Amino acid sequence: METKKKKVKKLISLIVPVYNEEANILPMYEACKNAMNDVPSYNWELIFINDGSKDNSFAVLNQTALKDKRVKALDLSRNFGKEVALTAGIQNCSDDTEAAIFMDADLQHPPSLIPQFIKKWEQGADIVASIRKSTKKKAFIKHIGSKIFYAVMNKNADTPLTQNATDFKLIDKKVIAVLRKFTEHNRMFRGLIDWLGYKTEYIEFIAPERMHGEATYSLIKLTRLAVNSMTSFSLFPLRITGYFGIFVFSISFILLCIMCVFKFILKSAMFSSISFVIVLNTFVLGIILMALGLIALYIGQIRDEVVNRPLYVIREKIN
Ligand code: UDP
Ligand code: MG
Repeated sequence: METKKKKVKKLISLIVPVYNEEANILPMYEACKNAMNDVPSYNWELIFINDGSKDNSFAVLNQTALKDKRVKALDLSRNFGKEVALTAGIQNCSDDTEAAIFMDADLQHPPSLIPQFIKKWEQGADIVASIRKSTKKKAFIKHIGSKIFYAVMNKNADTPLTQNATDFKLIDKKVIAVLRKFTEHNRMFRGLIDWLGYKTEYIEFIAPERMHGEATYSLIKLTRLAVNSMTSFSLFPLRITGYFGIFVFSISFILLCIMCVFKFILKSAMFSSISFVIVLNTFVLGIILMALGLIALYIGQIRDEVVNRPLYVIREKIN
């Protein structure tokens, strides 16, 4: 019995979101199979989450799953976006899995690196993250966009984000258990995992071009993701209105005082009555903006309660 138990191989779940990737699924499966052959001491399952693909992805997934029982497929009812697809993957991987690895279906996250991830994990890392060294071709606007995004995020969010970190990650079963508890809706996986703050090791890699098809993360989708991330990790966008309000309020207040001194004490006609109206207007605008900032603070508190993110995460318990 004892020896039999020892022989049971540990299970690793590979989680792959799929959106219009029909041509990439088979190569992805083959690549994963080859990579896992290099770490024969592990069992594996390959979970594809079909995120409402409009092409034949799901049919291809079905065929692949028929051929190999280790391949599993989830079919989401419509396109929910990669972040949600990853969540579905985490929530549906086998309960006895020891670690999960997230990968893109377009082979831009080379499965051949899996053994390296596993090695770092065996050496004690709870999370093995990856850093993309350089993508050969990244549209200029996306490049600039991501630069600005990281700059703003890291200035203002509670937890810093690692620049050029990707979703290509291995997480230990402890982390899976914690992630399953999160209930927030607007999530950014990368950020959440960074927020957890487990023992993290990094692997650098160069992302190849996507194998088939087009990148589906359009600029609009990326922008939406960026905005969601900012609002889910910091109150900065809200607070800035308030600060601006204070600025406008102070300036127009000072201006108003100066104008009153000129008009009523020095009896000067330097300022026309219309200028009084304008400055008074700006003054009131400042008050309104300040009030908005104040409301923002309350909203922030409500948000914290509603998101219901765990207050803390325990890394380990002894005895
Ligand atoms: N993806 C998804 N849902 C979407 C968009 C993309 O599941 O709405 C998947 C896609 O199939 C791929 C991964 O997310 O496996 C990354 O997408 P993509 O290659 O388009 O993004 P990029 O490489 O530009 O980050
Ligand atoms: Mg890609």
